[in-house]
Amino acid sequence: MKAAEEALRLLAKRGAAAYCGEPVSQLEHALQCASFAVRAGSPPELVIAALLHDVGHLLPGDDETLHEVVGYEWLLRRFGPGVAEPARCHVAAKRYLCFIEPEYLADLSPASVRSLAFQGGPFREEEARAFEALPHHSEAVLLRRWDDAAKVPGMKVPGLDEYRELLDLLG
Ligand code: FE
Repeated sequence: MKAAEEALRLLAKRGAAAYCGEPVSQLEHALQCASFAVRAGSPPELVIAALLHDVGHLLPGDDETLHEVVGYEWLLRRFGPGVAEPARCHVAAKRYLCFIEPEYLADLSPASVRSLAFQGGPFREEEARAFEALPHHSEAVLLRRWDDAAKVPGMKVPGLDEYRELLDLLG
């Protein structure tokens, strides 16, 4: 199956699941996140990274493997590093932002604060500097901010079909 078709089917079939303790489904979260990326004038890779950054939650996997790692491997094989790397780093970007912006931590949703503890907590200085050296770190930070905002119940955004062309282009 083509990568684009595979991604669309996953989101359509499994996207009804709740999004990690937030008041939106996985599909609503993905579509909101992608719509923010479009609104910001992002390149195709980053729009699709926003749409698929949590694809690891929709894939069958063991509980031991982190969703961003499962998602990364899936995305890398199908859409390449421009899509896979920002998605892989979206959890690291949260830990990074907690370190450089104290107000960022204060604004996180309760579910996101809870998961932060499992994710290792805010970065320390040397971890933050190592993160800044990653080639896709600025895209990961942008994605992270859209990710945090994409939790609005009932928000009107374009549907999955809107992304078919971009998925076909990259996949
Ligand atoms: Fe997310």
